[in-house]
Amino acid sequence: MPLIPFNIPFLTGDEEPYMLDAMRSGKHCGNHGWGMKCIQHMKEKYGFHEVFLTPSGTAALEMGAMLGGLEPGDEVILPSYTFSSTANAVVLQGARPVFCEIEPNTMNIDPDRIEELVTPKTRMIIPIDYAGIPCELDRIRPIADRHGLTIMLDAAQSFGSRDRDGSWCGSATPLATFSFHETKNIGCGEGGALVVNRPDWVERAHFLQEKGTNRRLVLDGVRSKYGWVDKGSSFLLADILAAMLYAQLQHAEDIAARRKVVTDAYFHLFAPYEKAGHLRIPHPPQGVTLNHHAFFVIFNTSDHRQRFLASLRQWNVNAYIGYVPLHSFDKGRKLGYRAEDLPITEDLGSRVVRLPLYAGLAHDGLPYAVDSMSAVLKELYAE
Ligand SMILES: *Cc1c(COP(=O)(O)O)cnc(C)c1O
Repeated sequence: MPLIPFNIPFLTGDEEPYMLDAMRSGKHCGNHGWGMKCIQHMKEKYGFHEVFLTPSGTAALEMGAMLGGLEPGDEVILPSYTFSSTANAVVLQGARPVFCEIEPNTMNIDPDRIEELVTPKTRMIIPIDYAGIPCELDRIRPIADRHGLTIMLDAAQSFGSRDRDGSWCGSATPLATFSFHETKNIGCGEGGALVVNRPDWVERAHFLQEKGTNRRLVLDGVRSKYGWVDKGSSFLLADILAAMLYAQLQHAEDIAARRKVVTDAYFHLFAPYEKAGHLRIPHPPQGVTLNHHAFFVIFNTSDHRQRFLASLRQWNVNAYIGYVPLHSFDKGRKLGYRAEDLPITEDLGSRVVRLPLYAGLAHDGLPYAVDSMSAVLKELYAE
């Protein structure tokens, strides 16, 4: 175990009693007591129209891709700098991922490069909020409107962040997905949510979540028996995990505040090196509120990145390189992409580092983490 690991899941203390209650309730499946509490809380506090708890962020993306009506032959524009799940949701519906470049201030999709990728086959745009920094929806939305495209926001990392207009991430696009994996700000081991902000899509979302049946209509008292009406899968989160999630949801702001202590320290440490021209740190758009999910540093060369990571390992501190761009790895190549197709993504991806960041670090280990990074930076830029 390194002295400073990359991540440690945070526990609020309420998880155990809530989960015990769920276990003893006699109802363990999805959409029951604790799950409904999570959904109610998310709708009330964050202004989501409807919420579906799913087994993972990956499952939420798959369900959203189905709900958005993706069909074989459709094209979907998304950044190559993301997790495999974002692209797999597209591929699993037989559609084609069309990769777009990112920009270095946020590592999010570059809105200036989206429209040139639109063809008559384009159906959807899936931007992500990398590191919890809201992507520039006010510049992406007009493109979607002009061409009749659905935006599904992969907000896996941005639960609790707010856009410039004050809206919570996930509340302002037809579809949005969250992840509650243990590496995210709040989690339940494995879990996720699909937010559906289009009222006319809610009924079908219930069908997709319940294995393609209209069971929901029986629960609502509309029908007396249910059956197979659509495609779908089992996109439900067990109530025992929802109980854990509810504990975390109630502490989302406290968790973000703890993480902010860490990102403030990192900003303070790295800002002078950015000023000296050695590296870049995140520059979120003015006016957004961050959930402090992640902190990244873009070194000027991949060699500097390697030296930084290697020296930090000597201190027993775990930073890591972030995503390997999707377009230039095996599956991307099979789809016909070459590394040169997205030179900006390829270049940034080869120079970025993600620093260890978790709520508990604020109270245990932060001075050591900062001192070790400071020593490594001094050594790296001594010449
Ligand atoms: C974590 C993550 C996912 C996948 O979420 P899981 O809950 O692990 O399935 C998808 N997209 C992005 C951008 C992520 O960070």
